[in-house]
Amino acid sequence: MSIHVDEDLFPAVETLTAEQRRGAACVWCEATPQPGIDDVDLGARHATRTGPAWFPRGCRRCCYGRDDQ
Ligand SMILES: [Zn+2]
Repeated sequence: MSIHVDEDLFPAVETLTAEQRRGAACVWCEATPQPGIDDVDLGARHATRTGPAWFPRGCRRCCYGRDDQ
């Protein structure tokens, strides 16, 4: 499962935890979705001059407003 989310909708990357940056936790609520089960891939962000690459993921509740599929 993967959707595109505009960069502006993410919290500032420098406020995220290490888990959120590597995609282990939802970028919005810090829930820890199960990979391949209820996580939502938000698309890897490439490294820039100012920051390393990171891999935003969300939980279904934050991405779709509900827990079911
Ligand atoms: Zn969430």
